[in-house]
Amino acid sequence: MTPQSPLAADPRNFPARVDVAVIGAGPAGTSAAALLHARGWSTAIVEAEAFPRFVIGESLLARCMDLLDEAGLLEAVKARNYLVKRGALFVRGNERADIDFAEQFTPGWTWTWQVPRADFDLTLANEASRQGVPIYYQHRVTAVTPGAEPTLTVESKAGNQTLRARHVIDASGYGRVLPRLLGLDRPSSLIERKSVFAHVRGDIRPQGTLENRIWIVMHPRGAWIWLIPFSNGVTSVGFVAEPSFFDHFTGTDEEIFRAAMAEDPNTRARLADMEFCFPPRTLRGYSAAVSAMHGPGYTLVGNATEFLDPVFSSGVTLALESANRAAGLTDRALRGEPVDWDAEYTAYMMRGVETFRAFVLGWYSGEFPKILFSASQNDLLRRQVTSVLAGYVWDESNPFVRQPARRVRQVARIVKHLDG
Ligand SMILES: Cc1cc2nc3c(=O)[nH]c(=O)nc-3n(C[C@H](O)[C@H](O)[C@H](O)COP(=O)(O)OP(=O)(O)OC[C@H]3O[C@@H](n4cnc5c(N)ncnc54)[C@H](O)[C@@H]3O)c2cc1C
Repeated sequence: MTPQSPLAADPRNFPARVDVAVIGAGPAGTSAAALLHARGWSTAIVEAEAFPRFVIGESLLARCMDLLDEAGLLEAVKARNYLVKRGALFVRGNERADIDFAEQFTPGWTWTWQVPRADFDLTLANEASRQGVPIYYQHRVTAVTPGAEPTLTVESKAGNQTLRARHVIDASGYGRVLPRLLGLDRPSSLIERKSVFAHVRGDIRPQGTLENRIWIVMHPRGAWIWLIPFSNGVTSVGFVAEPSFFDHFTGTDEEIFRAAMAEDPNTRARLADMEFCFPPRTLRGYSAAVSAMHGPGYTLVGNATEFLDPVFSSGVTLALESANRAAGLTDRALRGEPVDWDAEYTAYMMRGVETFRAFVLGWYSGEFPKILFSASQNDLLRRQVTSVLAGYVWDESNPFVRQPARRVRQVARIVKHLDG
């Protein structure tokens, strides 16, 4: 992977006014801005950090490919030669449940990528810049006045500047800029969990078709572990559990990481000789929700809306889906066409979110693993589950999308009965 430099806009040209101001240059921000620029609107992205910057969230879902293509960003990503991902392998003791994106209920992409996010996000940002979207790095939004002409206060080396827009898209991810500033933050429906993760070398990867899979491994004491292989030989490894899981171990973060891993035979076998590329990092309490996904002159997209849980790698898919949807609706609104934001944006996005929520709740309740590892699964059921896990969560002909919570409960009961 050849290193890239950011194509940054000249801060001396910071605009006083644009049609659409976008907060954050993650996947949601760059995708929304690229689409709006292509439709002829003046846009600017204000990004707090210097790129490349680290962010977690490295395994994409097949649905991302449609969305990157729609935003004109797919070819730039292809050129980075990331590891092609064709599915996911769920592992519990000696059991294996292989999800192959080629075997789906909903027609769609059969593959995607495992992406080191610093490089992936910079690739998207540079492509958006190349297409004409100015990105102002190290420009942090600190205040907002919503309304017919929303105004952002932006802090940079040049001091405080004001950016007026006809519409603001908040793609600030974990920064949650407008939810914090406008009091839209709400607690998640999910309990607090903690993640400890690192990049490692020395992973003994399975050979053949299973090499490209994300592994999602159930740890014997209630945690789960992701293993995400990259094309440069590095593997991303992370634990997710209730915070009390980590209290069983003592020592440095690295010692805790190794001790927790030693208890799981599957990851231990792959990572016995691992070396850390950086000391393990910790995130907790990342699940979040909002009271509204839009308001006068603004729309929230990506992680600035609701973030559920990492287990099914839905974050970037939902970020891109919401960004592209918001861009299309913003385009219409700016043209003076009526937009029913509740129906066309919030309700649409929540359909996908609720499908993943049912799967996430089912994962932690034990119902979804019953379905996954069941010996009684038939081909149709497996394809329906695979399409959800590939990110095709808007196809209402899939019963897991139409009535997600009910379907997960129902099928778990049936397979439990059949498996005996
Ligand atoms: C432990 C864990 C594991 C995960 N694993 C996966 C996975 O495997 N696959 C997956 O798809 N998702 C995963 N996710 C979710 C993923 O991280 C997010 O869903 C994704 O990054 C959201 O993209 P985004 O564009 O909304 O925000 P981000 O990628 O977070 O980008 C937001 C940008 O906004 C900028 N910003 C913040 N505040 C300001 C400000 N005040 N002014 C200007 N700019 C600002 C930030 O610097 C950042 O660059 C995981 C999450 C967690 C917690």
